Amino acid sequence: MIFSYHVHSKWSDGTSEITEYIKKAREIGLDEIGISDHYVLTPDRSNLSWCMPIDALDGYIESVQQASGEAGSDLIVRLGLEADYLPETAGDLADELSMRPFDYIIGSVHIVDGFSIDDKAEDWAPLSQKERDQIIREYWVRIRQMAQSRIFDFAGHLDLTKKFGIYPSVDISPEIDAALDAIAGSGMAVELNTAGWYYACREQYPSSGILEGCRKRRIPVLVNDDAHTPENLGRGYIEAYRLLHSLGFKEQVSYAGRMRYADPLPNPDEG
Ligand SMILES: [Zn+2]
Ligand SMILES: [Zn+2]
Repeated sequence: MIFSYHVHSKWSDGTSEITEYIKKAREIGLDEIGISDHYVLTPDRSNLSWCMPIDALDGYIESVQQASGEAGSDLIVRLGLEADYLPETAGDLADELSMRPFDYIIGSVHIVDGFSIDDKAEDWAPLSQKERDQIIREYWVRIRQMAQSRIFDFAGHLDLTKKFGIYPSVDISPEIDAALDAIAGSGMAVELNTAGWYYACREQYPSSGILEGCRKRRIPVLVNDDAHTPENLGRGYIEAYRLLHSLGFKEQVSYAGRMRYADPLPNPDEG
């Protein structure tokens, strides 16, 4: 089964209507597409430019459900969300999500102590290496806390801090290991997000070393493209499946109604 669960429409920072992603998904032969627009419950309840407004959640859900009803039986449309973990609002976020009919929730960290880690390379430019190291370390602390919150189904683009080619100068493997242990303990999965190949870091999220850490801990995986435009759907999938096979993964997971299902990882070099 081939699917894309990390997709941004005009409800957040994507270019196109949900129906246009569905059309493209059908053209390239996906079995499922999941829409996962950005939702960030900010501490002061302000709306961020790249997210749906905080009070738009029900309108968004209706719009995905309507598109799903019109899609026909040959393509399953899942209702997802990419929600940010912020320690200040995690409890309220859990309440917001618990009563709504999502198929899955992607847990992501884009903001660390008010610093936007993947918005612009210029945001990193004035920082000293010591300050960068601190943000990257804190990022992994947030990932650990995100897993411990048990609000989310799988982790979005782990190691996003490398997007602009910025890396720590110190060993942060203890923080990464603690985050992966927490993910394993929470029952979350981790996505291989192919979008990293198209940014300065030129590497999928997360790195092969972190994916190996997932395999050792039996953390399940899935492949996503983080599409912000229909043309991104399925981007890098063949390379992603090959990489996961080379690291020893045999299965991928999919979701329906917040339940997880495992099936064989597609193998582009077989049949
Ligand atoms: Zn994201
Ligand atoms: Zn995304």
